[in-house]
Amino acid sequence: MQRSQLIIFTDLDGTLLDHHSYSWQAARLALQQLKTQLVPLILCTSKTAAEVSELHQELELSTPYIVENGAAIILPDAKDPAHFFGKSYTELIDFVQLLRENKGYRFSGFNDFSVADVASETGLDLPQAKLAKQRLCSEPIRWDDGKDALAEFQRDLAKYDLQLLRGGRFYHILSKAADKGTALRWLLKHYPSPEKRNWYSVALGDGPNDQSMLEAADLAVVIPSASGLSPEPKNTTIIRAKEQGPNGWNQTVLEILKYKE
Ligand SMILES: [Mg+2]
Repeated sequence: MQRSQLIIFTDLDGTLLDHHSYSWQAARLALQQLKTQLVPLILCTSKTAAEVSELHQELELSTPYIVENGAAIILPDAKDPAHFFGKSYTELIDFVQLLRENKGYRFSGFNDFSVADVASETGLDLPQAKLAKQRLCSEPIRWDDGKDALAEFQRDLAKYDLQLLRGGRFYHILSKAADKGTALRWLLKHYPSPEKRNWYSVALGDGPNDQSMLEAADLAVVIPSASGLSPEPKNTTIIRAKEQGPNGWNQTVLEILKYKE
């Protein structure tokens, strides 16, 4: 029987990256070990491809990465460099704006925000905020309306095959067909094409929007959340990291690598 090979999927904000400083430095040792042991690391985030691209280079990765909460997968060396799940950004924005006009919902999204607004809402600097606005197929929004309106908004989105996910800072509107778990499963099937591997998948995340990714993996690592809301994965083996962000990430990944040997 072919021995299974380890592959790691990770959320970024609040997981590999510190919730406040966006730094991954505390995970340096584990990242180095993954490289030495040739364990593929797949970034899986609500961030845009434009934002992740820089980090991907900084971490010297050549693996695919999952962006906008699973709505798109970027395949750096493939003939088709991206794979999409669901509607385009223009379609999504047109519908959501019409819905807001017709029903009077109060919310603001990245499409409404200037680069400076995005910077002040997120704590990103201006160049990063500009990259965060370059979206392919999902929209983060700040909800300024009540709970009942939110439930109704969700029902309206569902009628148009859209869904609302709760992230660390924002709600994210994206196609129903898209989530981090679906993207993870797609990659396990297609990566690295055409060679088939017997993967043992580990996923690390800290937020409710990581739930589907954690449940789709063989082993789920829950990183304690800095924003208060944690994922509660079911039907999978779970490790709960002791510390938040890249510290917890570093400790847990080193443990998993030790166990693998
Ligand atoms: Mg997160």
